Amino acid sequence: MKADSATDWLARIRALPLREPVRIMNVCGGHERSITMAGLRGALPEPIELIPGPGCPVCICPEEDIFEAIQLALNEDIILVAYGDMLRVPVNVPRCDARSLEEARARGADVRPVASPMQAAAIARANRDRPVVFFAAGFETTTAPTAALLVEGAPDNLFVLLSGRRTWPAVAMLLESDAPGFDALVAPGHVSTIMGAEEWEFVVTRHRIPAAVAGFTPQSLLAGLYSTLRQLIEGRRFLDNCYPEVVRPGGNRTAQAHLQQTMDVTDATWRGVGTIPDSGFAINRAYRPHDARERFPAYGDDARKRAGEMPPGCDCAGVVLGRIYPNECRLYGVACHPRHPIGPCMVSDEGACRIWWSGGLREPAVKPGPPATAY
Ligand code: SF4
Repeated sequence: MKADSATDWLARIRALPLREPVRIMNVCGGHERSITMAGLRGALPEPIELIPGPGCPVCICPEEDIFEAIQLALNEDIILVAYGDMLRVPVNVPRCDARSLEEARARGADVRPVASPMQAAAIARANRDRPVVFFAAGFETTTAPTAALLVEGAPDNLFVLLSGRRTWPAVAMLLESDAPGFDALVAPGHVSTIMGAEEWEFVVTRHRIPAAVAGFTPQSLLAGLYSTLRQLIEGRRFLDNCYPEVVRPGGNRTAQAHLQQTMDVTDATWRGVGTIPDSGFAINRAYRPHDARERFPAYGDDARKRAGEMPPGCDCAGVVLGRIYPNECRLYGVACHPRHPIGPCMVSDEGACRIWWSGGLREPAVKPGPPATAY
């Protein structure tokens, strides 16, 4: 049987009797990229507002973790490896200091980009005489392969500086706030592949918000949007798996077992947001010999561990919480653009500001000046 096309789903959505404005949040940076690149916002009926949410692991990586990685790279005789996007993320330090891993590399630190934990392990095996620190920032999808590497046996000289985060507690935090800011949720496909769609049941059962897990094609996203809209119109609430070809009931049990074996769940800081209960991973006792925080001196600066730490004027906090659109930041396209990023949302391929800019949405929505919001 022929699968329904994006055009079919769009026609169905346009035929829905939508009278009131509807705000639908997508959690995942990959979803935001597909929505923007496919021009879905412009194609959907006016009452539908699509809101990018907290789904960029680089954007929410706490400043103190990036600072720690920079200091390790500068002060220890190590090779520091990190996912490519992390290299350009700026921290707030005096201009005379290294503001990013890229700047640390320019000052002589051995900083290398990697695309996977396997690549980090390969670098460690090729450099047995030197410690290799893998700065592993990411959500469940990228933390699970790090856990697998630990279970399967990482080289003795590989140490993980973990900044792993769980996505559902951030959405729970938004839903439990005074103003969640959305009426329906498109839940992330990749995370659900690992953890199971069931993790998002609470959105429906506890908060009575329609939810659908979607993949990354316009068809899958439109199917997810259609499902949530119909639920709203018909007064029904359920979690719809619109990505069943990849998201299986219960998720990937092996990946979950790896996470359970190697990690503890902890409260964790999200940059610009603050501490979210149970939203972080930490390497557990059994795998301590591979924990960079056990092996090296602490370079974390306590004064740095405060919520809302974004570069001056940057409204990334508002963007990741879905409070403003990227072009409502007063620096968007004026002082901040991909060649001169001020905040993490303009650095990462999964950051909403970067995605909007790449999608050709380059007009600021507000006049240049100080940030409009306070969080
Ligand atoms: S445009 Fe730049 S400064 Fe403004 S929120 Fe986005 S990344 Fe931050």
